Amino acid sequence: MQTILDLNFEQMKDLMANFNEPSFRATQLFQGLHSGKTIDEITNISKNVKEKVLNSYLDFPSSIYKKLESKDGTRKYIYKFLDGNIVEGVLMKYKYGYTLCVSTQVGCRMNCSFCASGLNGLIRNLSTGEILSQVLLVNRDLGGSVKDRKITNIVLMGSGEPLDNYTAVVNFLKIISSEQSLNISLRNISLSTCGLVEKIDKLAKENLGITLTISLHSPNQQIREKIMPVAKAYKFEDLIKAVKRYFDKTGRRVVYEYALISGVNDSLKNAEELAKNVKGNYSFHINLIPLNEVKERGLKSSKNAYQFMEKLNKLGISATVRRTMGEDIEGACGQLRNKILKDEN
Ligand code: SAH
Repeated sequence: MQTILDLNFEQMKDLMANFNEPSFRATQLFQGLHSGKTIDEITNISKNVKEKVLNSYLDFPSSIYKKLESKDGTRKYIYKFLDGNIVEGVLMKYKYGYTLCVSTQVGCRMNCSFCASGLNGLIRNLSTGEILSQVLLVNRDLGGSVKDRKITNIVLMGSGEPLDNYTAVVNFLKIISSEQSLNISLRNISLSTCGLVEKIDKLAKENLGITLTISLHSPNQQIREKIMPVAKAYKFEDLIKAVKRYFDKTGRRVVYEYALISGVNDSLKNAEELAKNVKGNYSFHINLIPLNEVKERGLKSSKNAYQFMEKLNKLGISATVRRTMGEDIEGACGQLRNKILKDEN
């Protein structure tokens, strides 16, 4: 069964019309849900309408199961869905507002050799409503509502591969940026992918205005293949070409993510090769992240981040080292899982 939060505003209006309810009922219901409330918690709707809705749809699909706060103020949220599955999200506070890191799948099938999210494979896709619910719950937790947006930015960088759950993710982007929902500007939303080439082309055609972020992590095909199984299906060179097409179509600067792993991809020679292999007639930036260590994966973080950056900058490439946040609560990039850490049980 679909959850009521899977519906966009038009669909909600159609539903109320089917129930012979006035159209303002759709607004009331939509606004209540998008303020992070369950149907039961919405007070301006009659019991009768609520019953009709719940006969055909599941209620608000998740709740906050647990909240952890890092020393640096970053918060990790653990959400629980109606079927008992769990995903994690991270809230970061910046000068301009709050950024929420959102998950798109329970687990992940990509199995990158440095990442915690794929350790148990893909459990299942999240629905549009389940993706939305993460933002709506945290917005409410911050004291906000549909008319009082606390979250200003979203990064689709939690567990899962967004382009492997394409339809739900694109619907999520359309709804969360709509006027009736939180109206978050698509320009303030980043989607990160390990590089599914034909889906990148498909996304370019949607012309959403979001920032595309590519998890590159390697200067060439050989190293990429070693640490990211997906590179066997999509060659390095073809990925870079797809990124250029994305830029040509959307005019949006693309961001590459590059986690520096000691002895694997962090030498100055690697930096030179990276510069050579990504450069071209398009606008991009490289985010360098010293690897966040994941116990089961056994890879070590690099100490060369700043030298690597300087090398790239000298070669005329825009690159910065991203400061890592929330590491003490395992909320940093690549540390999100779908199982609650054992010592918390
Ligand atoms: N599947 C998507 C979305 C995940 S985003 C993707 O691959 O882009 C999470 C980001 O953190 C990705 O750039 C991912 O490659 C990166 N990451 C994963 N494990 C990491 C680790 N251990 N240290 C630093 N970054 C990591």
